[in-house]
Amino acid sequence: MRQNFDVLIVGGGVTGAAVGYGLAKKGISVGVVDATPSVDRASRSNMGLIWCQSKALGNRNYVEWCFSSSKLFKSLASELKKTSGIDIEYTESGGLIPCLGEEEFTKRSDYLDALRKEAGEKGYPGTMLTRDELQAKLPNITFGTNVTGATWCAEDGLVEPLKLMFALRHGMEHLGGTLIPNTNVIDIAKTESGYLITTDDGEIECTRLVLAAGLGNRQLAGKFNVTVPVVPNKGQVFLTERVPDILPSPLLGITRTRGGTIMIGFEHEYVGTDTSLHTEKFCHVAKWATDIWPALADLRIIRTWSCLRVWPKDGFPIYDKIPGHENAFILNAHSAVTLAAVHIAELPDFIMGKEICKTAADFTLSRFDEK
Ligand SMILES: Cc1cc2nc3c(=O)[nH]c(=O)nc-3n(C[C@H](O)[C@H](O)[C@H](O)COP(=O)(O)OP(=O)(O)OC[C@H]3O[C@@H](n4cnc5c(N)ncnc54)[C@H](O)[C@@H]3O)c2cc1C
Repeated sequence: MRQNFDVLIVGGGVTGAAVGYGLAKKGISVGVVDATPSVDRASRSNMGLIWCQSKALGNRNYVEWCFSSSKLFKSLASELKKTSGIDIEYTESGGLIPCLGEEEFTKRSDYLDALRKEAGEKGYPGTMLTRDELQAKLPNITFGTNVTGATWCAEDGLVEPLKLMFALRHGMEHLGGTLIPNTNVIDIAKTESGYLITTDDGEIECTRLVLAAGLGNRQLAGKFNVTVPVVPNKGQVFLTERVPDILPSPLLGITRTRGGTIMIGFEHEYVGTDTSLHTEKFCHVAKWATDIWPALADLRIIRTWSCLRVWPKDGFPIYDKIPGHENAFILNAHSAVTLAAVHIAELPDFIMGKEICKTAADFTLSRFDEK
């Protein structure tokens, strides 16, 4: 028998799972169909940072979008514990961006000033810390001699990202939604009442369709003759052996997981879908990390991996109707962990036919026209 949903979401990564969870909370019949990812593994390979600070000068809406998500995480974490039974290990850790040398410190400080100026009366959370202030915040770390300070923002945070994805999926199922795992969407056809989805395990009908398949959206949107301006952006990460809890706040690029390992990596590469690991990249990142925190050099590396970010070409999310389709939607974002809480809060109403909230109203496909 064909399954039938009011809303079918293609993609069960953190974006699709968050929206599925939000829809199920509203009592809407929702299915999430997810293929077993081979390379599309961003939701399974990321740092778990709720990161808002020091980004997006020139796009106030995106800045507000990120901070409004971060504010919702505390209550989301306790809600997910109840609905899914999973603790996403959210910590209001704050976040730090370390500076090496005076020039970098000045650059960071100027950027923060510009963000503050742009925010005007609303104000901008975040401040510069001198080396001594950084040392006082992280007293158990001996910083490298060239560390001059850091930016600090109390509204950044940390979650265990795999637990977040599974909590959203389980929570959605608990609230009446349906997860259809290990199933690849092969084709999409418009019907009189909605869409007929062909998968490698049968057909599914739905009234509304949401494409939240990360990089897979490019192929799926092709079924509508639509180009999604999203590209793979490769990150390489390495993981050290466990250390005691001496890094309560992540340094951007150096994060202690709740399990005690340290995750290191920050590079962004545009190399198509190539996920091979390159030692010279690791050496570059390792040099930077040990310049910040020399004792890292004494730790054993226990794992390395690379993964493709889902990168909208201008760096901002895409939430839009597919042109010519009132009930089919495209969702893509490169910081979908950070944005998960606001996605739950705001995107379900949009999918059910309301206007998207003002802050997200510019994140359309049409902004890429003629670029
Ligand atoms: C190294 C690294 C570190 C990162 N760190 C952070 C961080 O600290 N904080 C943060 O906010 N973000 C971070 N990100 C980004 C974040 O991981 C992504 O924004 C997020 O995972 C994207 O989720 P998604 O659900 O949109 O896409 P994906 O995770 O790619 O999920 C898409 C899903 O759709 C499925 N799919 C694709 N095609 C089909 C199809 N035809 N049929 C059915 N299913 C399909 C895939 O199998 C996959 O499961 C990081 C990313 C990387 C690579």
